[in-house]
Amino acid sequence: MPIKKLLAPAEKPHKCSLCSKSFPTPGDLKSHTYVHNGSWPFKCHICSRGFSKQTNLKNHLFLHTGKYN
Ligand SMILES: [Zn+2]
Ligand SMILES: [Zn+2]
Repeated sequence: MPIKKLLAPAEKPHKCSLCSKSFPTPGDLKSHTYVHNGSWPFKCHICSRGFSKQTNLKNHLFLHTGKYN
């Protein structure tokens, strides 16, 4: 069974200025900053939960509606 290699800190150079988390790509860091500033590109209109990707919101809405629309 292969052992999953953890990313070394050097491989995650994009560090969040608001918490100690770091990310491998600028996109990952940008997605993370929504956690702090609340300006999510996609928001659930039912429970106001925020999402960085439309697919994530669609998957989430499925929990409310039980169907994709
Ligand atoms: Zn952060
Ligand atoms: Zn919701």
